[in-house]
Amino acid sequence: MLILMSSDHTKKQLEGVLARVRSLRLKPHVIPGKNSVAVGITGNAGALDKALFEGLPGVREAVRVTRPYKLAGRDFKHEDTIVRCGGSEIGGRNLVVIAGPCAVESEEQLLRIARAVKRAGAHMLRGGAFKPRTSPYAFQGLGREGLRMLATARRETGLAIVTEVLDQRSLDDVAEYADVLQVGARNMQNFALLKDLGKLKKPVMLKRGLSATLDEWLMSAEYLLSEGNDQVFLCERGIRAFSDHARNTLDLNVVPAVRELSHLPIIVDPSHATGVRARVAPMARAAAAAGAHGLMIEVHDRPDQALCDGPQALHPDDFARLMRDLAAIGRAVGRPLAPRAVRR
Ligand code: PEP
Ligand code: MN
Repeated sequence: MLILMSSDHTKKQLEGVLARVRSLRLKPHVIPGKNSVAVGITGNAGALDKALFEGLPGVREAVRVTRPYKLAGRDFKHEDTIVRCGGSEIGGRNLVVIAGPCAVESEEQLLRIARAVKRAGAHMLRGGAFKPRTSPYAFQGLGREGLRMLATARRETGLAIVTEVLDQRSLDDVAEYADVLQVGARNMQNFALLKDLGKLKKPVMLKRGLSATLDEWLMSAEYLLSEGNDQVFLCERGIRAFSDHARNTLDLNVVPAVRELSHLPIIVDPSHATGVRARVAPMARAAAAAGAHGLMIEVHDRPDQALCDGPQALHPDDFARLMRDLAAIGRAVGRPLAPRAVRR
């Protein structure tokens, strides 16, 4: 249920509505809007009677929300959410690009690539210190050491850091260093982890699960929002389908669908979606044209030596060329590339 307050409601009337919600042992969420305020209600098992609220002073209307996700939906919050990550804003009018290696391999490797992506105009730096690998024998990441290297790269370049949090055990460490905490595809439904991330005040990038429907994805976002973290954005990274010509199938269809149903920003990761270097730029350009708020691209200057995902990494020169294409596409579709990151 969503309670829409009249535009001239008083503070006392709003408090009266909050008290009524709490008296029903439900949770109110105050949602400031452009012209007035709305109060979202969660915690109810079945439908609520509108009459419980419509007679209260200052209430314009009570609206039933029929979708399973509430806080993540447009019914609850009409305006687009803007997530502030370091000096960049995801979900605003500009296209934002996150780039860097799949994994942090050494300080030298990370600094070389960080400088190269910055030179090309990237806004944030990615790099995994804790890596979710299909094989237990594959490189698992440098862990805490890798986090320290990311902090060094941030100091050197001024780029904000996006890095994955694999489990609750490493959450405090990752939260200490990251500007954005990445929830990987394999963890999209790790509800215990999502609940803990919801209690943080740091931005979370929620990647789509390998076979997650849009409703399931938004329900996972709901876990973060319902715990109080409203700094959330989504990342489409390809799903499992029947095609055998690529690592995954990039579901660009989901970009306009998310933008219709949710106020949360959505970015696209064409690297994991294709798994093939030559296809990353075409799909990145398509994602920008489809209305994504940003992109995340894997870049490596020595991809044949990469410890993880070398075949899909763009060389820095190819990445720089892609950034020029994205600038042109962004202008054409009304989402110009964000200005270069400024040193903080
Ligand atoms: C990654 O971004 O490095 C990653 C592991 O991605 P995903 O969770 O989408 O597979
Ligand atoms: Mn990767």
